[in-house]
Amino acid sequence: MASIRGRSWERYHSVSQKRLFITILFSTVAVMFLLALGLWFIPATGLVDVSSLLPKLVGAVIVIFLFLITLGSGLLAYALTTRNRIFLAQPLRGVVLKFLYPMMVPVAKIFGVSRDRVQQGLVEINNILVKACLKPIKPEKLLLMMPHCLQFHECDRKITTDVYNCVSCGRCDIMDLLKIAKKYNVHLSVATGGTLARKILKERRPHAIIAVACERDMTSGLQDSFPLPVLGYLLDRPNGPCFDTKIDYRKVGEAMLYFASLGKDDKQSSEEPAVAGG
Ligand code: SF4
Repeated sequence: MASIRGRSWERYHSVSQKRLFITILFSTVAVMFLLALGLWFIPATGLVDVSSLLPKLVGAVIVIFLFLITLGSGLLAYALTTRNRIFLAQPLRGVVLKFLYPMMVPVAKIFGVSRDRVQQGLVEINNILVKACLKPIKPEKLLLMMPHCLQFHECDRKITTDVYNCVSCGRCDIMDLLKIAKKYNVHLSVATGGTLARKILKERRPHAIIAVACERDMTSGLQDSFPLPVLGYLLDRPNGPCFDTKIDYRKVGEAMLYFASLGKDDKQSSEEPAVAGG
């Protein structure tokens, strides 16, 4: 009964999370419309002095920009609500990560919505868009990237140097993640922060990543690593930030299954594993 209640809550949270993200997305588009109108109307009088054609040209550029942004936002909302594959998924991922998200944060603030909630929606839409354009990847070109705060705080094993220093005592989720890495023959790295993560990326040159992080690190990681496909899963923090954090390793296992299914069974690959944060 408790698990049914838990699932219902998760489902309710997921739906409300999507609605919230879509609301903020279209509110941001509305703000852009207002800004664009202001940008055009105010200087238009001055532009006429330069050339009678200039206001029309500027107006046309603004209309095209607004049309593309509205179309892109509509596609994002469609992808988020239906989880269907959409065309132009990769360029749209770039637009939402680099352009729309930074504009959504101040708009969300006006509505009293935290940055974390926007970032949770961002991770979800990122995963949908990544799955829409993933191609089969060899296991050795896939990287599992985990944060150091998953390691039990009293454990003295140097897992950032080599995760195989873990002796699988079971006191933290690294044990289960290691099992997944071994099962699928993929490399598992544990990073203490952005600098080490960038170093690992440089050394291993993966073609795709399954990453686990908190909202803030995940967002900056997704932005920094674009256009590399990254499936992101958010940490649980039952003990507070950066301390004995948890991840439902089954989500990572489902993501691995998803990669393994690519190119084998197209129908199966379009099915959606559970995604953290949404
Ligand atoms: S599972 Fe590994 S990393 Fe976690 S506490 Fe045990 S030895 Fe340390």
